[in-house]
Amino acid sequence: MQYVSTRGHATEQNFSEILLGGLAPDGGLYLPQQYPQVTQDELSAWRSLSYAELALAVLKKFATDIPQADLKAIVDKTYTADVYRNVRAEEKATEITPLRVLEDANGRKLILQALSNGPTLAFKDMAMQLLGNLFEYTLAKNNAELNIFGATSGDTGSAAEYAMRGKKGIRVFMLSPHKKMSAFQTAQMFSLQDPNIFNIAVEGVFDDCQDMVKAVSNDLEFKNHQKIGTVNSINWARVVAQVVYYFRGYLSATTSNEQKVSFTVPSGNFGNICAGHIARMMGLPIDKLVVATNENDVLDEFFRTGVYRVRKSAETWHTTSPSMDISKASNFERFIFDLLDGDTARLVALFKKVETEGGFDLSGKPGSDGDEFKNIARFGFESGKSVHADRLNTIRQVEKNYGITVDTHTADGIKVALEHIAQGVPMIVLETALPAKFNETIQEALGRDAERPAGFENIEALQQRFEVMTADVTKMKAFIAQHTGL
Ligand SMILES: *Cc1c(COP(=O)(O)O)cnc(C)c1O
Repeated sequence: MQYVSTRGHATEQNFSEILLGGLAPDGGLYLPQQYPQVTQDELSAWRSLSYAELALAVLKKFATDIPQADLKAIVDKTYTADVYRNVRAEEKATEITPLRVLEDANGRKLILQALSNGPTLAFKDMAMQLLGNLFEYTLAKNNAELNIFGATSGDTGSAAEYAMRGKKGIRVFMLSPHKKMSAFQTAQMFSLQDPNIFNIAVEGVFDDCQDMVKAVSNDLEFKNHQKIGTVNSINWARVVAQVVYYFRGYLSATTSNEQKVSFTVPSGNFGNICAGHIARMMGLPIDKLVVATNENDVLDEFFRTGVYRVRKSAETWHTTSPSMDISKASNFERFIFDLLDGDTARLVALFKKVETEGGFDLSGKPGSDGDEFKNIARFGFESGKSVHADRLNTIRQVEKNYGITVDTHTADGIKVALEHIAQGVPMIVLETALPAKFNETIQEALGRDAERPAGFENIEALQQRFEVMTADVTKMKAFIAQHTGL
């Protein structure tokens, strides 16, 4: 399997070659030359597999350059009941992403698929844990090392740290805005004592952290010499790892390949639902893929109108589902590539327009950039939006009707799912985080604290290890160099 850039850069690369990198040299995103297909026989055989076995079956179609025995060892180590501890007692611990049927009446079936049983209680662990093991394996093979440098306001940074802690050949330098994260999130990250993890609390806001990462990454000589890399959501291996749970969800919710299911996905950067799109392109019988956004509705606007309009920072809201607070969706280009049927010249023109004019329009109206919006339905996409009042209401209703507490992002998903659920087609909502991470809003909705999974009771009291620094690029570079010894 060879990978190409959405923007047409000619050299083909294999899975291991694109694993450690980010963007393709031409600024595009990597995609496989064609999507591998899944046959009916395979799908039937996959019904009885464990999560790790299923992950191997899917991954080996994409990572054809890694010997199967090695890939097997990697997934066996990743998808265990120790890593994905099932926090809801009545569910079987070995399921990794257990389903819970919330409602099954009058032809309407609403199902929650738990993706947040990993170490940081959010779905990013599903892919990041695999990435940590893949990185360690590839680096060891090439006798190489990697220094991950990133900025976080919460979920991504902690998922990366928990995936890379203690891994040979890897260090993590993670910037976060000093005293701006919740006490829970801060404790999750800063309580890590592993010598290869460096938490840097920057005196400033998230954008200051992001600017520092950009400044350091733009210094190519420093970046190469210090072997700096990233783990952002455009990473292809992360997307592939996410494809697996769409198969698992489908196979667990159905008994025959004749049946279809739909998914609703709380979305920000379009990474999670992009994996659903890929599963569907591989032949998984998915009916609808429903994009759920919060007040930051760039994607909802596109899937309703065909207009993609990137938001300015003054129009990007801080909401109570903060992991979906985005101004543009970094994985969206992968879908547009498919929507344009692989026309890289047009794609380049559209994304150039994103840079110069802040967006593009595929609605087909006079003066628009194309009419491909009319083909959206062919890909199964629909969308909806949920705001703070909807989240509170949904958290209350789900508690009242089904006796479970959901987090704010999942609440956005359920709100939108209920608007798109169809007779006779199960609707699976992906649960992207546990409520303990967003306790303030649970308090607001329910007047009590969210339950905390075992092991997290006193996390704020743990000893913390972090460095406070000003937003000074020169000092930051010196800090990195001092700790890498390079
Ligand atoms: C990252 C995240 C999302 C958004 O996922 P994308 O892949 O960026 O669309 C939704 N919910 C939670 C809890 C997250 O951490």
